[in-house]
Order: sequence, then C-alpha cells, then structure tokens
Amino acid sequence: MKLESILANYLNQPKLELGDRSRYVGASDVGQCPRKVVLSKTVPETYDINTLIRFERGNVVENIIEKALTHSGIDFVSQLEVMHPEKPFTAHLDFTFLRDNGIAVLEAKSVSNIPEDPYPSWIAQLYFQMGLVDLQYNLPTRGAIVAVELNSGEFKVFNGYTHNPTLFKGLLERAGNIWDTLQAGTSATTEKSHLCIYCQHRSDCPEFSTEGLPDLPVADMVMDYLSVKEQEKKVKAELSKLRKDLEVMVQPYGQARAGDYSLKLGLSSRTSFDTKAFSEEHPDLVQQYMKTSSFSRLYVS
Ligand code: SF4
Repeated sequence: MKLESILANYLNQPKLELGDRSRYVGASDVGQCPRKVVLSKTVPETYDINTLIRFERGNVVENIIEKALTHSGIDFVSQLEVMHPEKPFTAHLDFTFLRDNGIAVLEAKSVSNIPEDPYPSWIAQLYFQMGLVDLQYNLPTRGAIVAVELNSGEFKVFNGYTHNPTLFKGLLERAGNIWDTLQAGTSATTEKSHLCIYCQHRSDCPEFSTEGLPDLPVADMVMDYLSVKEQEKKVKAELSKLRKDLEVMVQPYGQARAGDYSLKLGLSSRTSFDTKAFSEEHPDLVQQYMKTSSFSRLYVS
C-alpha cells in the first residue's frame, strides 16, 4: 500500500469522541458562518491529504499541552463533553480544570500566524463552552485560549474570560437558528469572513457568485498570493515592534552599540501639505488643479 493511502486511511477516520456532528450544534459551530455550518452537517466534506495533515496540527498542539499538564501534576479532564439540558447543543472542551470552587476551560488552537487578538469565532466558541459548563455545574466558570504556531514555536495565551450570561444568551439564539435551519432544510444565512477562502461550500455560495466568468487555472497561485499577503502583514507588524523595542533601549543614551552594530536615535523631518485646510480655503484652485487618474488593481476574495 502506498504511503499516501496509508496516511489518508488514518487521517480520514471519523473523530469518535465528537459523535455525529449532524445531530447537534457544537461550540465551534456557533462562531462560524451559519451556511457553512449547516452544509458541513448535511453535505459530507472531503479533504485532500495536505489539508488532512494540516488539520492534524491541532491534535499535535493538544498533545503537547496534555503532556505538559500531566508532567506538572495538574489535575485536568481532556475532551470533557458538556450538553445543554434541553437542546441539542454540545461542547467538547479541550482541557477542563474542575475544582470545588470553580471551573476553568482551556481551548487550544494551532495557527499559521499568532493573531494580535483572538478571532471572534474563537471567542464565541469559548463563551458558548463556558455557558454550557455553567448550566451543567453551576460554578463560577472562566476560560482561556492558547494559540500555538508549530513552525516557529511561538505561542500566546488569551486569558481572563468569564462566563457571561448575556453573551451566552445571544449564542444560544445563534445555535437555535442553525438547528432550526438544519431541521427545516432551508438555506442558512451567509457570513463572509477571512475563512471563506478555506470554505468547501464557496463554489455555490451566493456571496461568491461567479456565474458566467471565465475560470482560470490559477487557483494555486491565488492561494500562494493570499498566504504571502498574510506573511507580509506579519513581517510588517514584527518589524514595527522590533523597531519600537530598539528605540526604547537606545532612548536613554541617544547612541549605543550592540556588539558590532551601532544604534543611534536621530531626528528626521517631513514636510507635508495640508490638503484639507487648502481645500477649505481655496476650493476653486483645488478644482482647477485636481486630477483623477485611474490604475488597475487586483481584488481577491
Ligand atoms: S464561502 Fe464564506 S459566506 Fe459562503 S458559505 Fe462559506 S464561509 Fe459562508
């Protein structure tokens, strides 16, 4: 048997601990596009081997955390299932810390880039988890998310969340709408986001109707383009942070050295034209000299 088949057989196995996901609304569903969630439960999704391997990174991150917690002798439950007492809403918690005076939930995420702030879908998932925990245990519940980037080893903890009845109520409504749509077999609403590029139901999504357009054989190039754009954002943010950190270090001295490198804080000036003030004072001149030129620009969505 080819290694590719061996891998595909293994990675395609259903996650038994999650049960039949078409029979409930899960915590990870409530923060996602309703159309995607409903279709993922009614139309079986298939993934290529590369995607399946990428998905495994989530398990690797969970394994690392599980081993670290066990090594430190911390009492925790892995993949605890919590359910709504009346509705088909279920959450599987990555790590739960059950104590007599309260409960803590930790959600682990594997990411390609560590975001500055947690994504809204992560937050919704965590609040839904904490709400279901509160219903089941009736103890103060708090939560955190740890995001790990396996290539660089970077990680970030987003902490300090507590059960919020108002947010939970809103999420219950969302879950209810998803469930009702699923039962009625009707079309769910769409919610466009940066995750659309990974969506399996994009080809016939009303948000991305491409009817009548020529289909170019450059899908891989588009994926590369979007990935490099993401990296560009990250590099710019890193560069800016490093520059600021270095400026803070040099600030007390004005000039310093770091090994063979010289660091100097200098003053630079920039002359700018106050277009707003000029337009207000000389509107006629602005009209006279205003020039509009057009250029082509690529929009990818
Ligand atoms: S492409 Fe985007 S908007 Fe359309 S179903 Fe998928 S996630 Fe929702």
